[in-house]
Amino acid sequence: MREGLLSDLAAVVGGPQVLARPADLASYSFDAFGASGERHLPDAVVFPASTEEVSGVVQVCARHGCAVVPRGAGTGYAGGAIPLGGGVVVNLCRMSRVLALDGSAMRIDVEAGVLTATVHRRAAAGGLYYPPDPGSSTTSTIGGNIACNAAGPHALRYGTTADFLTGVTAVLADGRIARVGETDADQHFLRLLAGSEGTLAIVTEARLRLIPAPAARSTVAATFASMEGAANAVAAIAQSRLVPAALEFLDGAAVAAVARAGASAVARGVGALVLVEVEGDAATTGDHTDSIRSAMEHAGSDHIEVAADSAAAARLWAMRKAISAAVATVMIGKVNEDVVVPRDRIAELVARTHQLGDAHAVPVVNFGHLGDGNLHATFLIDPRRKGDRERGDAAAAELFECVLDMGGSLSGEHGVGYTKLAYVERQLGAGTVALMRRIKQALDPQGLLNPGKKIPPLATEAAPPAVVAAAAARR
Ligand SMILES: Cc1cc2nc3c(=O)[nH]c(=O)nc-3n(C[C@H](O)[C@H](O)[C@H](O)COP(=O)(O)OP(=O)(O)OC[C@H]3O[C@@H](n4cnc5c(N)ncnc54)[C@H](O)[C@@H]3O)c2cc1C
Repeated sequence: MREGLLSDLAAVVGGPQVLARPADLASYSFDAFGASGERHLPDAVVFPASTEEVSGVVQVCARHGCAVVPRGAGTGYAGGAIPLGGGVVVNLCRMSRVLALDGSAMRIDVEAGVLTATVHRRAAAGGLYYPPDPGSSTTSTIGGNIACNAAGPHALRYGTTADFLTGVTAVLADGRIARVGETDADQHFLRLLAGSEGTLAIVTEARLRLIPAPAARSTVAATFASMEGAANAVAAIAQSRLVPAALEFLDGAAVAAVARAGASAVARGVGALVLVEVEGDAATTGDHTDSIRSAMEHAGSDHIEVAADSAAAARLWAMRKAISAAVATVMIGKVNEDVVVPRDRIAELVARTHQLGDAHAVPVVNFGHLGDGNLHATFLIDPRRKGDRERGDAAAAELFECVLDMGGSLSGEHGVGYTKLAYVERQLGAGTVALMRRIKQALDPQGLLNPGKKIPPLATEAAPPAVVAAAAARR
């Protein structure tokens, strides 16, 4: 610990807003990737209450040459909020005010620590709609969503967080405050910031675009004997030239997990469950629901249910929403991946994950966003058991190779964090990685903002030991 760091931080945010006892720090040594067993203690955690305080904290850290790790709710699955080599965690949970909602301009201004679900609720109360809806919306923050460019089921039709971000206030690596969003040129910086995973700046406030709420919404659930049937359903929907609002799936193992947890409206034993939502005006929504039903029949579904009302729709969606909790009842830990392949190869990839699970002796469940080829392949482990974590990591490493061979991507929405760092160059190429390093160097020359995440360090750079170990384990 650098001498004077804690007192300097306390001078900015106040003594009670600085944690430094190991017992207090323990909760900040992991994020949702902690289900793999990974833990790294920070040196301190601070709770600033304003942009100015965040700026003050970053200036203190810059003076002490200390890493800064921004943190929202810690729901990230890529280890992005884990303080790998120690450092100061900047927790934005006290910055949770909705600053303004302008119904006629259809926009909302929020602080970074506002929950995603709060934006949904406030928009809906004004007859408006904020489509980005990660499965974690009741706990994740808008700052975290921006940093990871979070998506969710409705990204299929409406896009991701970046598509709704029209302005930010951000604290740069030297503590200066940037307010961005007024001009067209600003939009480029917003695009850069969305998905930068806390490596370029700390977002403290955001302006988000809202759209009119759809007048009607319809949910269809269909079961199939196999994943091939579900893949055929996607092809049939694409052929009908429809872009549903959401097109989700659970494989047979995921349905069984949900059924075991008592949250399933369908019987276990099915090969796959597909959920489709369409939105629009009442007439088109009715027509589109009919088309979806025919597409499902054509693809060989053995059971189709169209929700009669919003309660029935919520019951169908509960199966998809219950999956993360359900998986935890099967096994205590997991290595949860988030890969993307061309949609017509998703059934092939699901089959491959089961082969990998068998080969490495780790159970696997698959679910995700079928409409955009985004698969959450989840290898189940018990991190307390010797060898489980290594076997899960080995299965994930082979999965990444397979995905890249299929022309896919390592991350659909959860980000790179440090868990996928070793594969970034293989996917993007040396030129793109060099460009990323130049941008990082320009915005954060001391390399203090969330080091060891997203951007692979040069071999000559000092990467936190945990990054080196994780990269070696995954190679
Ligand atoms: C059950 C469950 C379901 C999920 N479903 C989805 C899904 O459908 N779609 C999806 O996209 N993701 C999903 N996720 C992943 C996760 O919720 C998202 O990545 C979310 O955006 C993380 O938000 P957070 O506030 O928890 O951020 P954290 O986990 O705290 O941080 C994530 C990253 O963002 C950085 N960061 C956080 N706040 C800021 C800030 N203010 N400024 C700069 N950087 C910051 C952190 O340093 C870290 O790198 C899910 C997670 C869980 C546990």
